[in-house]
Amino acid sequence: MTNLAPNQITDPDVYKTLLESTKAIPWKIDWATMQFTYIGPQIEKLLGWTVDSWVSAEDWIARMHPDDRATVPNYCIAQSKAGHDHEADYRALTKHGHYVWIRDVVHVVRNDQGEVTALIGFMFDISERKKSEEEILRLQKELEHLSFKDALTDLPNRRMFDSVIEFEWLNAKRHRHPLSLILLDIDFFKQYNDCYGHLQGDQCLKQVTHVLSQAVTRSRDLIARFGGEEFVIVLPETDAVAARTIAERCQHLIEQASIPHQKSPVANFLTISQGVNTIIPSQKDDLFAFIDKTDQQLYQAKQNGRNLIV
Ligand code: GH3
Ligand code: MG
Ligand code: MG
Repeated sequence: MTNLAPNQITDPDVYKTLLESTKAIPWKIDWATMQFTYIGPQIEKLLGWTVDSWVSAEDWIARMHPDDRATVPNYCIAQSKAGHDHEADYRALTKHGHYVWIRDVVHVVRNDQGEVTALIGFMFDISERKKSEEEILRLQKELEHLSFKDALTDLPNRRMFDSVIEFEWLNAKRHRHPLSLILLDIDFFKQYNDCYGHLQGDQCLKQVTHVLSQAVTRSRDLIARFGGEEFVIVLPETDAVAARTIAERCQHLIEQASIPHQKSPVANFLTISQGVNTIIPSQKDDLFAFIDKTDQQLYQAKQNGRNLIV
């Protein structure tokens, strides 16, 4: 009996058994003819195509998602010509018309003269990994979306308002269009909460949101929750007269909704106070001063007795 070191295998059947019992699918392509000279039988289990059906590199290309087909074969051919080992991810078509994400890891075999003679590689099924990656991307997008949204009312939040007003300010400045802003605050909302409870207060904010949404009509108008029980409406390309009309519409719609507020000193239903401001911004104007002035007008409306527009 000959003694073999444990790193030597002489029987090719052992290699074959090992290769064909792994999850990775081995294959070999002859470089001169671009024909498959070997592909592991595992391929049939993964993609449904029989071993015999893998004749040439053309079969490999034909069974690739069209989007990947546009880039992956060219990349692999260029790398192989240069003699570089490489890997590529792509979607392989199954016999049943689905796609499976594959990572192909390719080794370029060269002869003594350094000429490429064959490609050998392993295909790995990476569908699960891709699924996780796609899920993470989806979650990231959702998070981005959510971070511009107010959780209670579903309205754009303060962050969104900050971005939009900055954009509309520059736009109005550039085109010399009027830009209007309405700051709107519920009157005696503290008393509302005290009287009806905080949860009912939340419901009330949702109802006010619903009502105010009916007051604006243009798609570029923005209603956002400015904070607490304050809302803001950005009205691009809207002059003072039109802005005043919209503020009156808000007041009227809230009045019509007649949300009971028995502890309000000004009415027995819920009311709002509004500051309305319009500007055609010039170089010397400042956005923050504009917002601040609107806020002072809202304060004036409160001082003058509430349920008012200033
Ligand atoms: P004013 O007429 O001067 O505006 O009086 P006000 O009571 O409406 O104003 P104040 O700023 O004193 O109180 C605002 C109240 O709004 C207090 C706060 O608890 C309530 N509030 C802010 N955010 C929310 C919310 O998300 N849900 C509920 N239920 N209440 C809120
Ligand atoms: Mg208030
Ligand atoms: Mg307030």
